[in-house]
Amino acid sequence: MSSDFRTGGSPATDTLGLAEEEVVSLASELIRIDSTNTGDPDTVVGERAAAEYVAAQLADVGYETTYVESGAKGRGNVFARLEGADPSRPALLVHGHLDVVPADASEWSVHPFSGAVQDGYVWGRGAVDMKDMVAMTLATARRLKRDGIVPPRDIVFSFLADEEAGGLQGSQWLVDNRPELFEGCSEAIGEVGGFSITVKDGVRAYLIETAEKGIAWMRLRVRGRAGHGSMLTDDNSVVRLSEAVARLGRHTFPLVMTDSVREFLAAITELTGLEFPEDDIDGAVAKLGGLARIIGATLRDTANPTMLNAGYKANVIPSSAEAVVDCRILPGRQPAFERELDEILGPDVEREWIANLPALETSFDGPLVDTMSASIMAEDPGAKVVPYMLSGGTDAKAFDRLGIRCFGFAPLKLPADLDFSALFHGVDERVPVDALKFGTRVLDRFLRHC
Ligand SMILES: [Zn+2]
Repeated sequence: MSSDFRTGGSPATDTLGLAEEEVVSLASELIRIDSTNTGDPDTVVGERAAAEYVAAQLADVGYETTYVESGAKGRGNVFARLEGADPSRPALLVHGHLDVVPADASEWSVHPFSGAVQDGYVWGRGAVDMKDMVAMTLATARRLKRDGIVPPRDIVFSFLADEEAGGLQGSQWLVDNRPELFEGCSEAIGEVGGFSITVKDGVRAYLIETAEKGIAWMRLRVRGRAGHGSMLTDDNSVVRLSEAVARLGRHTFPLVMTDSVREFLAAITELTGLEFPEDDIDGAVAKLGGLARIIGATLRDTANPTMLNAGYKANVIPSSAEAVVDCRILPGRQPAFERELDEILGPDVEREWIANLPALETSFDGPLVDTMSASIMAEDPGAKVVPYMLSGGTDAKAFDRLGIRCFGFAPLKLPADLDFSALFHGVDERVPVDALKFGTRVLDRFLRHC
């Protein structure tokens, strides 16, 4: 083994300081590449340019990169592998997506694709979802290579297309068509976790994502008898569909405490004294501020009607009516949810899934979790690291299908008064410069000890 062989501890050259500088310009430059994903494959822009930018940053310090288009032209993904000290250990996957949701410049204080660095923040679409983590990953990957650091095991860096439309032309396509790119990966980190909330007296809790609700989009259809709008009818598809949609939209699904939510609430009780009694859990969770939006949605399944479609002329009773419902289902609840759904809808409403990405959940334990905690605590002594469930979905849904244990870990130390969850897909999305530097230091330590 050469004298150059180093793992973990302090490298001979140390350019972590340079990585902390680079992360800011990397985030800003990534935001300037407009990679808007409207969900309509014909109008997607910039994923290829973003992927080429990432590949160039990696190649610049000596990585061999693989560029893959997933499903369609321009859906760019980039992969690079850093060899670890112990080839017998399974690899760690570090994943980030390159696309962003649309932004309407007229609503913003700065142009959403300016990547402006001002007032201590990097501004723009993607600043927290998730060009911040892409920049931290790039800065850290560059530093590890530059300084000849050998991590304990192989690390697979991946930068992906199409997350914002469910990954059908990104992670899901890659898992189906190019599973060898993830060969040997047993665990993964990505969005949405590792960020801090200030619970009291400046004590921060860092939330590691250990679970995600399932995403199930459902089409409802009611068939009736077509006829003239002037005549009597007892079989109007619009009426029967509306009644079913209203019943479902007003329904409250039962409270189900999953392990991730139970552990999260227990940790918050320990830190703040705030109790979460089962008979008023919604009231108690509402006291969590901005975070209540996410945590509140992880207490039960939800079904929100989002689209309606029927008819083509004012005096024609249509023969069918359709609705789309956005269902979000807790881990382990799919069969029970469907039974409840059928009871609410009744026998005359047809239903079909137009998207169905299952929930996932892993336990908050083991060496990788210990390393996450230690890496955060080294940079923020006194912090507490807690698991939580994301109410939305990420590319982890695809990697879970390969048996990879997925965590949301994109570390950011945030100011107490920042409403972080509102920034996701929000106006004036921005990330603190100090948080990017903090995240780079944490990620660096984490990857050197993973
Ligand atoms: Zn995202």
